[in-house]
Amino acid sequence: MPPTRAPSLLPPPARVTVEPASGTEQRARSTDPTTANRLQKDRDMTVETIEIDTLVVGAGQAGVAMSEHLGKLGVPHLVLERKRIAEAWRTGRWDSLVANGPAWHDRFPGREFDVGPDDFPGKEQVADYFVAYAQQINAPIRTGVEVKKVVRNPDRPGFTVETSIGVIQANRVVSATGPFQRPVIPAIAPAEGSIHQLHSAAYYNPQQLPAGAVLVVGAGSSGVQIADELQRAGRQVYLSVGAHDRPPRSYRNRDFCWWLGVLGLWDAEAAQPGREHVTIAVSGARGGHTVDFRALAQQGITLVGLTQSFAGGKVRFQADLAENIARGDENYLSLLDAADAYIARNGLDLPEEPEARRTLPDPECITRPILGLDLAEAGITSIIWATGYAVDFSWLQVNAFDDKGKPKHQRGVSSEPGVYFLGLPWLSRRGSTFIWGVWHDAKHIAGHIATQRKYLEYRDASQRQADAGLNGSSQDGYREPQPPKASIMGVS
Ligand SMILES: Cc1cc2nc3c(=O)[nH]c(=O)nc-3n(C[C@H](O)[C@H](O)[C@H](O)COP(=O)(O)OP(=O)(O)OC[C@H]3O[C@@H](n4cnc5c(N)ncnc54)[C@H](O)[C@@H]3O)c2cc1C
Repeated sequence: MPPTRAPSLLPPPARVTVEPASGTEQRARSTDPTTANRLQKDRDMTVETIEIDTLVVGAGQAGVAMSEHLGKLGVPHLVLERKRIAEAWRTGRWDSLVANGPAWHDRFPGREFDVGPDDFPGKEQVADYFVAYAQQINAPIRTGVEVKKVVRNPDRPGFTVETSIGVIQANRVVSATGPFQRPVIPAIAPAEGSIHQLHSAAYYNPQQLPAGAVLVVGAGSSGVQIADELQRAGRQVYLSVGAHDRPPRSYRNRDFCWWLGVLGLWDAEAAQPGREHVTIAVSGARGGHTVDFRALAQQGITLVGLTQSFAGGKVRFQADLAENIARGDENYLSLLDAADAYIARNGLDLPEEPEARRTLPDPECITRPILGLDLAEAGITSIIWATGYAVDFSWLQVNAFDDKGKPKHQRGVSSEPGVYFLGLPWLSRRGSTFIWGVWHDAKHIAGHIATQRKYLEYRDASQRQADAGLNGSSQDGYREPQPPKASIMGVS
């Protein structure tokens, strides 16, 4: 990268530098790399223009995994996080949330959780895990820095990155800004101001809601767990159930995470056609249990079909509840069948579990579905939209999107050379948004980056000859890696 000085937004420079690590490994480092907590102290500082090989945007699990693999491959890099490491796990989730997968499964290979392997760590424990992981790998993360704009340089290689504290020149940019960036509330949401409405991302606990009944729209993992918590807290709850998959929490002494692994389902490269938007209803709450809608109804939750419309203080539901429940049952039973077949084929000694196939009787809300409700008559004072998220790449102004704004990429390597996506749903497979899955995708992307750097290091015969003349020695093929050309301008 030419040593031209891009305009600085906010001098003076922070002491962030990029230096070679020991041996052949070289990686970006803060001058204060000892702990991620101390890195956080940098956040009020300002920087002049930094040049860096690879800039990673976002320090959730994806950004931390990316840093680990880039570091291992000696790629100088910097991770910028607008809030704190793993912020989504702290403030983007409700208070009682625990991981949906057990600790032995939902983790990176290089560290275990401080809980039993079959336990489900709480959301703060998950966030703490990633902070500890960042410390363990000495990740060059700067928190409190927002990336506001990335554009390809018109006149030289790389990208100009505008951040909340200055300009960065980067050869490559990895977007690790998460699969769930912008809470989505469907357009059918009522305009009436009398109902308290919030997205599941803003739900923390039952006490935050006004007195009265609650309509929870959406019955994936979030909606089901929130409805359950509210009902247990004494609320009357209506749960609007759409299409869903419903794996058993465990079957024949193995958690469903194990079953999805051995059956190759985590590795599925795409959702089955027509099932792209089907949510998955699982829960690690209260030690983990299978989500059973009939049991939720027996417990006191009123199930309704897909929420269709609101008008004049009334809500209408589609007549699809029984069908949605039946399709969820099919999905559940198909996993039991596949598990049984796997056990038989491999001669595994796992105890039979015939009771897993017993179904509770259909409750009245399924046999005589409610198709409409007067919100006031039903006492509904709150609506929680557990309706998912969208991505927001307005800051990434490069040629890496299709005409619908969807990232164009192959396993995270985008159509814009030098731009990478990590952590997106189905980036390479079903596991891509999950803790363990993102680690493997990050490895692939880091490998791609390292390979590209190798190509750029190649010297042809005349260049090698010129080098030999300069250095007094000859080399063939690849040149030895040179120290990274990355520094804060003005600070060596
Ligand atoms: C309710 C819920 C429960 C889940 N439970 C599990 C589970 O049990 N197990 C599991 O494996 N997965 C689970 N997931 C899925 C997934 O693990 C999480 O969503 C996880 O947070 C995704 O990690 P990420 O690093 O890709 O994104 P995020 O955690 O969202 O991290 C992205 C980071 O980028 C930062 N950022 C965004 N834009 C910018 C910018 N312009 N500049 C600087 N920084 C920026 C954000 O502040 C954020 O910290 C769950 C998801 C949800 C919603």
